[in-house]
Amino acid sequence: VPDGKARYRRGPTDVLTQTSRWLMSIFLNKRTTRMNIAFFSSQPYEQPFLEAANRNHHHTLTFLTETLTPETVRLAAGHQAICVFVNDQLSRPVLQALAEQGIQLIALRCTGFNQVDVEAAQELRFRILRVPAYSPHSVAEHAVALLLSLNRKTYLAYQRTKDNNFTLDGLMGFDLYGRRVGVIGTGKIGAAFARIMLGFGCQVLAYDKVPSPQLQALGVPFLSLEEILEQADVISLHCPLLPETHHLIDAAALARMKPGAYLLNTSRGGLIDTPAVLEALESGHLGALGMDVYELEDDFFFADWSDKPLPDADLNALTHLPNVLVTSHQGFFTREAMEQIADTTISNLTALEQEHLPEKALVVG
Ligand code: NAD
Repeated sequence: VPDGKARYRRGPTDVLTQTSRWLMSIFLNKRTTRMNIAFFSSQPYEQPFLEAANRNHHHTLTFLTETLTPETVRLAAGHQAICVFVNDQLSRPVLQALAEQGIQLIALRCTGFNQVDVEAAQELRFRILRVPAYSPHSVAEHAVALLLSLNRKTYLAYQRTKDNNFTLDGLMGFDLYGRRVGVIGTGKIGAAFARIMLGFGCQVLAYDKVPSPQLQALGVPFLSLEEILEQADVISLHCPLLPETHHLIDAAALARMKPGAYLLNTSRGGLIDTPAVLEALESGHLGALGMDVYELEDDFFFADWSDKPLPDADLNALTHLPNVLVTSHQGFFTREAMEQIADTTISNLTALEQEHLPEKALVVG
């Protein structure tokens, strides 16, 4: 072809494809009523991802900065569905208020659903979907980032070199190579974290109610929680927050840990008994803490408190300890994860509207 472009002539197959696409679009447009959806706890950085994902779904998205609480639930009025994030409360009073406004469809734009009163939602006949999976690497890599920063003290070095202070005292770390790293919860994120640690040459030890055959095939032994606590130099939490895992790391668990061990929590704040961990840090028994989540984060994370005193003594103490690194629930915050969360969330909303609920995403239905 002289101009380098393929010559193209429409054949009968193309006409058929076009006609079936046209019929499909009429069918889909008829089935989709295009809902008005209120997004609670909305942040400016997530809106472009949600708008892009909505391009083929044509819902009307209302972005609200307010967190969903009994006081703000009235803002849902006039919408057919709501979309919430990790710190929005789907408690019984909030669900009752939503039901009174005729709203029964909820999409969570997160994986965990510990913020949902599942019993109340079932009684009130809600349909709730979540994002069952997105880049587990986002959170796993963030846990590694916390570990490396804490160990090699790059956050302290950063501040020091800004002041033209190029000394090294107080910055000594240790080789991760050969260290024992305990992974608690070896689902998608825990397994991704374990693989990275294996790549570092660490000896990975795991605890889960259901051992992972993939990790076992890589030579990872599954031990009891007590064995992990006693043997690991670094412990990383990746199990969900459930009644049985609430305060999994309490004073007794901390006492079992090796002196100087590091603790990482990128899962949910409630896995850790904060005052007990503070005590272990202050006594020097716990070597360092990397936390992306906090038990009482609802009131603080995702908001700027820099111009007012923090009315939480424990969080204030944690952010000021030199061997503690706090990030504000940002493990999920990569471009790849944001795209996947937005795509699944908008597809879930359409699925809720069309009443076919994907099994994996189902919380209540
Ligand atoms: P997952 O469901 O794939 O894995 C969870 C694992 O925990 C499973 O293997 C399960 O068997 C195990 N588990 C359940 N109960 C347990 C118990 N009592 N003891 C030990 N193990 C137990 O989930 P995932 O996608 O890997 O996510 C893990 C957690 O990470 C989520 O529950 C969520 O709270 C948290 N998370 C945090 C962020 C963030 O931004 N920081 C983002 C996404 C998820």
